[in-house]
Amino acid sequence: MIRNYRDLTRLEMEEIDKRETIVLIPLGALEQHGNQAPLGTDDIIAEAMVNYLKEELEAVCPDFPMLIFPVIPVGLSTEHKNFCGSVTFRPETYYHILYDICSSLSHHGFKKVAFLICHGGNAPMVQILSREVRSDLGLYAFYLSSGAFSHPDVKATISPGNIWDFHGGEMETSMVMAVDPSLVKLSTAQPGIPSAFTDTRSLKPYGSASISWMSEDWKTPDGKPIGIGGDPSGATAEKGDIILRTSVKELVPGLLDIRDFPIE
Ligand SMILES: [Zn+2]
Repeated sequence: MIRNYRDLTRLEMEEIDKRETIVLIPLGALEQHGNQAPLGTDDIIAEAMVNYLKEELEAVCPDFPMLIFPVIPVGLSTEHKNFCGSVTFRPETYYHILYDICSSLSHHGFKKVAFLICHGGNAPMVQILSREVRSDLGLYAFYLSSGAFSHPDVKATISPGNIWDFHGGEMETSMVMAVDPSLVKLSTAQPGIPSAFTDTRSLKPYGSASISWMSEDWKTPDGKPIGIGGDPSGATAEKGDIILRTSVKELVPGLLDIRDFPIE
């Protein structure tokens, strides 16, 4: 059975099988997403994702043993801090917050935690942390990437010619619109391209030689820092619904594997 962690009473929590139950912890961020999408885009997507996921998992496995932890609303957003409204933890703060949550869950007997990474900038810390908590606490910390952005059905939602779509672009904006179209101000949207990387042969934001990009590397065609990838102007709620549904379908096999993973 899938329930929200925070909805259980203490007595109900005492009844939970801590060895088999997975605690799913969605990791969001509070950071700029261009002119058009809200600062809480990743948090809004994280909440939508777990709602879609609950429905999808229950269809596959009605008694799936999982508790959904509240979305962690702030993450690692250093790359966006120079744009108004972005809030970030320092890496050491974030590590300790996640570690302390794991430590508390382990203290109560939980053995399996799954981080749902809804902001790519959080991923490196989760990878480091997952090894530490397994070693220190005997807690199995798995991690899942939330968006199936390379899935053909998701790629098919992107407007022709929108080649750089990622952070704050058409896909993320569409997912927010699927939740609440009034949160998106498409009339203010401007496209962004990684201008600092366009004249280099291998050094791309995701090239064979890499440098950590900052949001201001992404500029409008007339050279103004815009901090997003791609052109969000073609975003729609229908596209967002397709992306959310496709992404949660891709998460199901991983969660079934986590359920079946043998623990000591
Ligand atoms: Zn985002």
